[in-house]
Amino acid sequence: MAEPYTTVVGLEVHVQLLTRTKLFCGCPNRFGLPPNTATCPVCLGLPGSLPVMNREAVRLALKAGLALNCAIASHPGQPPGFTKWDRKNYFYPDLPKNYQVSQYDLPVCHDGWLEVEVAPASPGRQPGEGYSKRVGIIRAHLEEDAGKNLHDESGRGGDTRVDLNRTGTPLLEIVTRPDLNSADEAVAFLEEVRLMLRELGVSDCEMQEGSLRCDANVNIHVPLASPGREPGEYAATPLTEVKNLNSFRAVGRAIQYEAARQYEAFRADPEGYRIGKVAKSTAGWDDARGRAEVQRHKEEAADYRYFPDPDLVPVVVSAEQVEAARTGLGELPRAQRARLQSQYGLSAYDAGVFVAKGRPVVAYLEAVAAAVGDGKAAANRIADLVFPALSARGEEIGASPVSAAAFADFVQRTAPLTKQDRVDLLGHMLEHGVDLTAAMDATGIKPQELDEAALRAAVASAIAANPKAVADFKAGKAAAKMAIVGAVMRANKGAPNEAVRRLVDEELARV
Ligand SMILES: [Zn+2]
Repeated sequence: MAEPYTTVVGLEVHVQLLTRTKLFCGCPNRFGLPPNTATCPVCLGLPGSLPVMNREAVRLALKAGLALNCAIASHPGQPPGFTKWDRKNYFYPDLPKNYQVSQYDLPVCHDGWLEVEVAPASPGRQPGEGYSKRVGIIRAHLEEDAGKNLHDESGRGGDTRVDLNRTGTPLLEIVTRPDLNSADEAVAFLEEVRLMLRELGVSDCEMQEGSLRCDANVNIHVPLASPGREPGEYAATPLTEVKNLNSFRAVGRAIQYEAARQYEAFRADPEGYRIGKVAKSTAGWDDARGRAEVQRHKEEAADYRYFPDPDLVPVVVSAEQVEAARTGLGELPRAQRARLQSQYGLSAYDAGVFVAKGRPVVAYLEAVAAAVGDGKAAANRIADLVFPALSARGEEIGASPVSAAAFADFVQRTAPLTKQDRVDLLGHMLEHGVDLTAAMDATGIKPQELDEAALRAAVASAIAANPKAVADFKAGKAAAKMAIVGAVMRANKGAPNEAVRRLVDEELARV
């Protein structure tokens, strides 16, 4: 179902950096402290206090910028690596200095891109239904955060209080080009950025705690197909910056809502509702009501009176610093997905599942795969057994009582068993904290030596005991065979499943 317009979205993503202290003072950069306990004269903006830059914030910005394929402070007319701090002036109660230290014309990272997979093939999809999309990055710059206004939400008209713990904590603002053409693409981009920045230790990207925040600049292009026009001509609607997006789902819903709203506004006034004729506006997304409310018309950069901060020296990033950051990146998610597919024969979907769970899970997979000698089997067993067990127990893979070596041993020794037998054995091991041998002894579930004559006799008696299944099978219901297989497996715990199936086929052919 295609809309009669093209949605055009650019994102502004703020991520809070995982530094120990704030950007320009020694106050702790930690979420959840009692209000106004992490403040000092510098972040309170008291007269006479002077900021000192946090080197770690620059190091994390470099890692993020390189992962986003950005140039590092490579500005015409400036020495290589030259970047500086600027004051962005505005008045708001949570900004005690009345300016925010940011980066205006010489950002530390700029002109990059990120390739993301949109709707990767899931089990129900055909291969090729997903596609990859390159999203341009205009810039990624450092800035300090503002504090938080705590509004009384009792509805009784109480006062608003200000918590300045967040004031001066380091942010990286990532601004994309308007390359995203749907809600799905925007969400895929955000998921990839979150995964990457978490893996790199740049940010924990918790939207609930505000360490990842996102605004979406949305407009639409409506094709003008009337006679006499050039093909491909379109009308562009004015931009709306949608704020207050508190989850990836809200980002997707807000983009769809705003694009549809703009199309209605355009249809009501096709000549007037155009970019340039109507000013850019800012809207707040109300997730409960599923709508965006226009709040104000947006300031232009000139309104902020940017100027270089006289209290902070410019930063010159050296080639050595860039190289050190690049070396520390490791294998990024996109490369990791491609390698899991080519090295182990994993499907795009399975590779995506493992990579999305993070580097420790991928390392676990690779250790099991190396020991078992079959990456696909290792991935299947981990997905079938380890993931459900961990999620049921609320554990991370690093805390799993079954190490990769122990699980590789498990995969090999339980190969002849059924899936249910494996589930039961692993469940017993986890519940009682015992190894596989002990679990096999306690449950009696273990692979049996193949005694073909005995097993054939068991199959014959199962066939004799299930005349209905046999009749169904003979009448053409191939699935009825499984009732016989199941009966044999129940009566012979640990019997090799493949041999049972083969013997059932042979014996049924003789009935
Ligand atoms: Zn401070």
